Amino acid sequence: MQASVNAGDHPTDTSSVEAEACIRVDDLELAIRRSSKRRTLQITVERTGELSVSAPPEVGIDQLRDFVHEKRFWIYTKLAEKDRLQRAVPAKVFVSGEGFLYLGRSHRLKMVETQDVPLKLAHGRFALRQDAQPQAREHFIRWYSEKACVWLSGRVAEYQSRMEVAPAGVKVQDLGYRWGSCGKGDWLYFHWKTILLPARIAEYVVVHEMVHLHEPHHTPAFWQRVERAMPDYAQRKAWLAEHGIDVEGL
Ligand SMILES: [Zn+2]
Repeated sequence: MQASVNAGDHPTDTSSVEAEACIRVDDLELAIRRSSKRRTLQITVERTGELSVSAPPEVGIDQLRDFVHEKRFWIYTKLAEKDRLQRAVPAKVFVSGEGFLYLGRSHRLKMVETQDVPLKLAHGRFALRQDAQPQAREHFIRWYSEKACVWLSGRVAEYQSRMEVAPAGVKVQDLGYRWGSCGKGDWLYFHWKTILLPARIAEYVVVHEMVHLHEPHHTPAFWQRVERAMPDYAQRKAWLAEHGIDVEGL
């Protein structure tokens, strides 16, 4: 991941790379790498989070500092992205006390001896029957899928008249890395994990897929339709891009 800017022409007769001292800009520390082969200034954010700035030999320290200063928001964004990607989503354990999301809220799990169904949400807690524990994950997925189907169908019904679409219906399944898709015969497909998202974010996923019934691709016309149906869609979309990964563990 690199940011570049032209630093002007310079002689390219010799080539040498030498590591110099570091420069500090605010709380950022960057190793300086000089090379006579370079024509531009470039900041690199390593996988480890280490930073460096590469520069032609004649670029002064003040110009380097200005460049880093100008690019600092880009650097912070990249560092935050790395941080997020490295933060592994821990696998859920199905024991009392573990939290499970439902429409954006975390509910604690409680193991119970007896209960009419293997899993239910009651009084703000998920209750899992002891003998169902070996298949806990399957029970959760089934529970989420059922709730998702009902809830998402409700949102589709709410939006469909004003969006002038007539979806065939809603199907909930494991869609891998996608939240939703729209398929043959105008069926709308949603990942069961959609029901873990906060309601307003799940609603954006619904609107997004419904607009695909009009516009199959992400063209400007597609986003115009999304905005017409949901004027603040951009915030919700941004939230999903940033936090969506956090709901992926189960
Ligand atoms: Zn799409």
